[in-house]
Amino acid sequence: MEYASAASWAVYFLVLIFGLSVGSFLNVVIYRLPRDGLSVKKPERSFCPVCGQPIRWHDNIPLLSWLLLGARCRSCRKPISCRYPLVELLSGLLALYVFHCFGPSVSFLLYFYFLLCLVAIALIDLELMIIPVHLMYPTTALGLLGAALYPSLDLAGPWLWAAVDPQFGPRAASLAGSAAGMVLGWLVLTAVSVGYKLVRGHVGLGDGDPPLLAMIGAWLGWRAVPLVILWSTLIGLFSVAVMIILARGRRPEGGWAMKPLPFGPFLVLGAFLYLFFGPAFLDWYWSLAAY
Ligand SMILES: [Zn+2]
Repeated sequence: MEYASAASWAVYFLVLIFGLSVGSFLNVVIYRLPRDGLSVKKPERSFCPVCGQPIRWHDNIPLLSWLLLGARCRSCRKPISCRYPLVELLSGLLALYVFHCFGPSVSFLLYFYFLLCLVAIALIDLELMIIPVHLMYPTTALGLLGAALYPSLDLAGPWLWAAVDPQFGPRAASLAGSAAGMVLGWLVLTAVSVGYKLVRGHVGLGDGDPPLLAMIGAWLGWRAVPLVILWSTLIGLFSVAVMIILARGRRPEGGWAMKPLPFGPFLVLGAFLYLFFGPAFLDWYWSLAAY
C-alpha cells in the first residue's frame, strides 16, 4: 500500500474512533436532556438506567462493551437497549461521511454537530414526544452564524445568491438563504398547525415541530424546506399505513400502533434525505424544467 493511502486510512480510522466516542456521549445527552434533575455534567459518571450503578470505564467502550457484556448491565443483569450501540455506530458512520465531504475543517465539526443534534431530537421525540427547545434554539443560531462565516451557494440557491451577492457580498447571500429557510420553516408548520386546529378542533402537530423545521431551514437553506416537508410527510404516511396493517387483528383499542406519532423524527429523516440527495435532486428537477 502506498504511503499516502495508508495515511488516509489511518486518518479515517481516527475519525471513526472519534465518531464512536462522541456517539457514546450522545447517548448520555439523549437520556439526560429531557429528564428533570439530570444534566450532561451531573452526575459525572454514566449509570445504568435500571439499577443506577455507575458504569466503569472499561464497560463504557463504544460498541465493544455492549457486545462483550452480552447486552446486559454488569450489576443488575437487566438488558441494555440496542439503541446505545446503534447510536454509537450511527455517530461513527456520520463522522466518516461528513469528514469525507469536508475534510479536516470547521465545517466538518459544524455539520457533524448538526447531524448529531438531529439524531438526538428524533430519538427524544420518538421516546417521550418532547422536542428539547434548549437544544434547538442555540443550534438554530449556530446555523445562521455558520452560514455567515462559511458562505455556501447551496444555502441561498442561484436565484437568491444572484440577487444579494452583487450588492452585499457572499456572506450576506449565504446568511439570507439560511435566514429565509428558518423563517419559511417556522411559518409553514405554524400555518399547518393553526389550520389543523381550526378544521379538526384539536392539536395535530407538536409545539416543537415549527421550531424544528426552522432549525433545519437555517442549516440547509430555504430551498430545503418544501422538500423536507414533502419527504417527511410521505415517509410519515407510509409509516402510518404500515403500522395500521401490522396492527390489524390485534389489541383493537389502545395497542402500541394506536399511539399518536410524533412528527419530529420524520422531519429529521426528511432533513437527512435532503442532505444526502437534495442538491442532486434539485439539479435534476431544474434540468427537467429547462427543456
Ligand atoms: Zn443495572
